[in-house]
Amino acid sequence: MNVEAIRKDFPMFENKSKKGFDLVYFDNAATTFKPNAVIQAVTDYYTKYSVNAHRGDYELSYQVDTLYESVRDTVASFINCDRKEVVFTSGTSLALNQIAYGYAQKILKEGDVVISDEAEHASNYLPWMHACETNKAKLEFIELDEHGCVSIEKFKQAMHDRVKIVSLAHVTNVMGCTIDVKEICKIAHSYGAIVVIDGAQSAPHMKVDMRDLDCDFFAFSAHKLCGPTGSGVLYGKYELLEEMDPLMLGGGSNARYDMCGNLLMKNPPYKFESGTPAIEATLGLKAAIEYITSIGIENIQSYESDLRAYMISEMKKLDNVIIYNEKSDSGIVTFNIKDVFSQDAATYFSDKGISLRSGQHCAKLLMDFLDTPSTLRASLYFYNTKEEVDYFIEVCSQITPETF
Ligand code: PLP
Repeated sequence: MNVEAIRKDFPMFENKSKKGFDLVYFDNAATTFKPNAVIQAVTDYYTKYSVNAHRGDYELSYQVDTLYESVRDTVASFINCDRKEVVFTSGTSLALNQIAYGYAQKILKEGDVVISDEAEHASNYLPWMHACETNKAKLEFIELDEHGCVSIEKFKQAMHDRVKIVSLAHVTNVMGCTIDVKEICKIAHSYGAIVVIDGAQSAPHMKVDMRDLDCDFFAFSAHKLCGPTGSGVLYGKYELLEEMDPLMLGGGSNARYDMCGNLLMKNPPYKFESGTPAIEATLGLKAAIEYITSIGIENIQSYESDLRAYMISEMKKLDNVIIYNEKSDSGIVTFNIKDVFSQDAATYFSDKGISLRSGQHCAKLLMDFLDTPSTLRASLYFYNTKEEVDYFIEVCSQITPETF
């Protein structure tokens, strides 16, 4: 991988911080920078097409329909599923809410159980909390192992006959732990439970194969894989999509309705796509997937893994740093500077041109487990470099409680 050449694809790297530093962007778990190909795809929509999708019979409308539907093929091939199983959403959060409101609330009965864990993002916890509350079902937690991860052993201990839904992040957004989705699905299915995978932090960084993983639902966001904001994907096994009710009703998703209250929805995936979608963002998602694929997702994964290993080894040489997820395997490094409030440290990093996240990272349940009110999080992507890590380490070493 030629990272120097890759960085030239991203116009954001031409910018400097207010104080004139090069931008060191380590907040990729929140969102990623966009390459020219994606920006061009979004611009092309507005300059060459600019009309609605699935609405008209004129030439431009037909061109947009064809392009828009081709994104479904691109996604299907990226995650290895049938195109009919690809639902466009605004992102992971909407996809997970769609499952919780449209599927879980339909099937959960009093006493049924949904399984989660403390390391989940709010978007993969609150919808389940609400669905359980509404249906008098129970939300139970898998105990995290000593590294803050969901192990197969702990998962087995949590499973029982009343579990109907298991919903877990493929890669958690603070601990950066990767779960064994295939094995979890095997176990959950043997109990008759379905498995929902929050793939927000996995799809951008590793090969995800729906047929191989055998999960029942999978969600991810375009903006975390170099695509635009406002676009995301909900994958569902077709028979489950058929069973699930749409969260929204409106134009585009219905086949027929009348004044007597009869309504016939279209087949999936269209029944979930009411209203005018974020067309330009969806076209941008196609460009993002093509861009990522041209680099090679396996190359991305191994590059990030090496960069992370380097970062951890250098951080361990500093005596003012506490690392919370040394043993995990993603590009996410969660840490604190000893005796320094995370937001103060983040401000210092920002002053030096380094963007990273501070706080609770939408995973508020985890802070008790970590025994800290908040942390810093550096999250890497394939355009980050060893030189950036060296600079980050230098800035880390400068921060002490006396800095403030
Ligand atoms: N799930 C995880 C693990 C995440 O990291 C995020 C975003 O940070 C989300 C869900 C929500 O994604 P979005 O804000 O794109 O809907």
